[in-house]
Amino acid sequence: MIIDFHTHNFPDKIASSVIAKLEASGGTKASTDGTLDGLKRSMKKAGIDYSVVLPVITAPKQFDTVNRYAAETNGKDGIISFGGIHPDNDDVESKLDLIKELGLPGIKFHPDYQGVYIDDERYIRIIRYAVSIGLYVTTHAGFDPAYPDIIRCTPERALKMLDRVYDGKEPDEPRIILAHLGSLDETDKVIEMIAGKNLYLDTAVMLDRIPEEKILKLIRKHGADKILFATDCPWADQKKFVSIINSLDLTDSERSLITHKNAINILKKHNIAF
Ligand SMILES: [Zn+2]
Repeated sequence: MIIDFHTHNFPDKIASSVIAKLEASGGTKASTDGTLDGLKRSMKKAGIDYSVVLPVITAPKQFDTVNRYAAETNGKDGIISFGGIHPDNDDVESKLDLIKELGLPGIKFHPDYQGVYIDDERYIRIIRYAVSIGLYVTTHAGFDPAYPDIIRCTPERALKMLDRVYDGKEPDEPRIILAHLGSLDETDKVIEMIAGKNLYLDTAVMLDRIPEEKILKLIRKHGADKILFATDCPWADQKKFVSIINSLDLTDSERSLITHKNAINILKKHNIAF
């Protein structure tokens, strides 16, 4: 089984305009048309059984529409959807309770698109409450091509955030997921500073971006039990990433943790049946 823990899609009405905008700002070409059906076609071609969709809320007023759409698509046809929240939303605790009631397993942040540093008090408050009610939290980490001059989730800031969320203690179980193997384009720093911490790293956009030796070094130092296979589809090609993960020099048990067992561990806590 293969579960892709980091994908995107958009409601049909806006998919083509959003994709065009993101292609222009990121200087990249999308591998799907951005719709839900496009994602499902890509999964079928790649042999992916489940995709976790991570919506990003770029303005507080989008909270209701984004989470309603997430709840509609969650749990059907191999699609699992996280919810979203903006650091400038008010009454964040009751909004997180609502996300939990909707049955969504977690929330996604993008500090660059949301214009807030990951160790900002607004994020700390949201993450603290989210993990306390059993939600998972994925954040974009490191460079983003749409914001080349500023990185709002560096390894240093991610560590500060962790420290504040858990009051300097090691979390009992990992609930925070740093995308892009902990920091896009700063893997050496991740190996040095973050590997081994009790959190998950996803592989989104990284598998064809850095050398295999570096990927293996990070996986072995961090622990394959805390790595999630992920593509960032449509910003990477699912089929290509499946063939890369299958070709990496991993043991069978490491590979099965990364491709689906870790993901199942997370998602089964949210009554998502496999
Ligand atoms: Zn993404």
